[in-house]
Amino acid sequence: MGKKYKGKTCVYCQERPSIRQGDHVFSRELFLESERANLIKVPACDECNNDKSKYEHYLTSLLPFGGLHTDAKEHLSTLVPPRLERNQKLKKELGAGMGYVTRADENGNESRVLTVPFDGDIYTGLFEYIVKALSWFHWGAYIENISIVLTTALTKFGEEMFQQHLFSLKSKNTIDETLGNDTVKYFGMQVVDNEQITVWKFEVFNGLVVSNSKDEGFHKSTCIGAISGPPQVVNPFRELFEE
Ligand SMILES: [Zn+2]
Repeated sequence: MGKKYKGKTCVYCQERPSIRQGDHVFSRELFLESERANLIKVPACDECNNDKSKYEHYLTSLLPFGGLHTDAKEHLSTLVPPRLERNQKLKKELGAGMGYVTRADENGNESRVLTVPFDGDIYTGLFEYIVKALSWFHWGAYIENISIVLTTALTKFGEEMFQQHLFSLKSKNTIDETLGNDTVKYFGMQVVDNEQITVWKFEVFNGLVVSNSKDEGFHKSTCIGAISGPPQVVNPFRELFEE
């Protein structure tokens, strides 16, 4: 992979050509070094690449704190400290807003989990890029800029709504993928009559426990849902998920 993307149209802005060898859809920093071979890449222009990496730096420093995956612990001890040293502003924010919640696993064993303050807009921003990238990578579809991509950290209610109303739609294509020793898992679906309508479910670090600094309390989310499509399709779901 690599050079073949040079000169192809950027999947994000769909205007400028890919100058370099493509963009990693899921940042290399999300994965331990031993898991970085053969990560997915797409054509991307320098501008989009830079914009996306701003979200990625924030999130790759932050996500392992809330992650439930065993690799998340190794991230915390080896990879995150140097990242935080490079980002003093984030380090201060984290220090001020950390907390714990009690969380039960599938067997009912409870443990205390560290949570970090979390800016949902940054999460949403990154997954807008990721949905565009994966729709192109798996199905060759350029998701148009006029399409709205909605992402939300799914609660149990949200997951059920997604299952009931979205994943039940008739699909043209589906993809079920696991990357880097389960660091990232996703399921995606392209709806039968309109290639712009895609529905996604993502799980990073086996689910996350996050808090949103704008709200009170914690979101205990297991995964992230996203929809792309024209406004008349997406807006009813946007309303449904906005509290
Ligand atoms: Zn671009």
